[in-house]
Amino acid sequence: MAEQIKAVRGTRDITPDEVYKWHYVESAARKVFEKFGFREIRTPIFEHTELFVKGTGEITDIVQKEMYTFEDKGGRSLTLRPEGTPPVVRSYLENNLFVDIPVNKFYYIAPMFRYERPQAGRYRQHMQLGVESIGSPSPAADAELMSMYWHFITELNIKEVKLSMNNVGCGNADCRPNYVEHLKSYAKENIDSLCDTCKDRLERNPLRMLDCKVEGCSEIFKKGPKILDHLCQECNKHLKLVKSYMERLEIPYEMNPFLVRGLDYYTRTVFEVTATGLGAQDAIAGGGRYDNLVEQLGGKPTPALGFGCGLDRLIATMEAQNTRFPDPPGIDVYLVSVGEEGVSRILEISYLLRRKGISAEIGLEDRSLRSQMKTANKLGAKYVIIIGEEEIEKGVASLKNMQDGHQETVDMQMLGSTMEDKLRISHR
Ligand SMILES: [Zn+2]
Ligand SMILES: [Zn+2]
Repeated sequence: MAEQIKAVRGTRDITPDEVYKWHYVESAARKVFEKFGFREIRTPIFEHTELFVKGTGEITDIVQKEMYTFEDKGGRSLTLRPEGTPPVVRSYLENNLFVDIPVNKFYYIAPMFRYERPQAGRYRQHMQLGVESIGSPSPAADAELMSMYWHFITELNIKEVKLSMNNVGCGNADCRPNYVEHLKSYAKENIDSLCDTCKDRLERNPLRMLDCKVEGCSEIFKKGPKILDHLCQECNKHLKLVKSYMERLEIPYEMNPFLVRGLDYYTRTVFEVTATGLGAQDAIAGGGRYDNLVEQLGGKPTPALGFGCGLDRLIATMEAQNTRFPDPPGIDVYLVSVGEEGVSRILEISYLLRRKGISAEIGLEDRSLRSQMKTANKLGAKYVIIIGEEEIEKGVASLKNMQDGHQETVDMQMLGSTMEDKLRISHR
């Protein structure tokens, strides 16, 4: 036998036995997001590499280490989408979506690609549920976005959830840049106690030192300067309003001055949602405001915000929490036959049933009645229709209710309407 080819490291298949969970979560997301006025957008899987270098940020881990970048046959440098925000902003600008309405709200359910070390709940191709709301500077938009995610995970019955929030300031000289200087000089005073990653980040990406997981480092930064004490007046006002809206919506949150998120483009509000179940990989969503990104990507200055939620991890969390998923849909009818004429009959009847909106499966292998009944059972069929030689002679079919075992004989001509009655399928 030839050697089998396996899936690429860090990728996996979602088999039919699992996919119903995905359908459930995805349809819950669509329902909730559309109620909040978000509309679906679909962008290409690959983009010009430049979009992520400019949008995601040159000094982020994503751009420096994790992108699947390749040259196509035309010599263009392309990258498999590592995150959803820059493509949506690009599309928003390219398609002039801002012309008709001042605030555009998008959502997407799409695969993202990152060359990371695979571990529980983390894959090199992962499915992301993301939303972007472009056009509103209002702190109410921040609260609306967080409330939407909160509603979504409440609908899914996810337990032990924690929403952490921070404000990372803006580009005003008396805001984040001033804080970063304070942070850098504090880090320099303590340089000998910091880990190598923090030492490296000190000049390149100082804010990221704040979410260092090394215990010695986090102890040091706990005692250091906090961004919340160094916000400009406007950012302070924004934060105060977001907090008051969250309280009015009765959504529990806690402030975490060390929450900075890994991306360059965030301004003001950032947030993260965690849930127990997966150990260290406990973040199930994260996002925030990115008021400068639209301009950075060639548009007019336009405030915006969004979040992303990894579905692989969300579903793994639900499994770890023993969430009950609705049962996968079984089939209504399984048709069994013996002999050539029988096959022809069940093919015809199944086609008729399917067009009436009934799900039907047929046993086409030349196997015994017994083993075909076993298959019907495995597929969870509600009814089995048997057409053997005897039935063909009499122009009838045997109909078995798989739940109670009751068996009856039905005129072949009446099969369609009988099944409709039994399954109470309404016509369109
Ligand atoms: Zn500010
Ligand atoms: Zn560190």
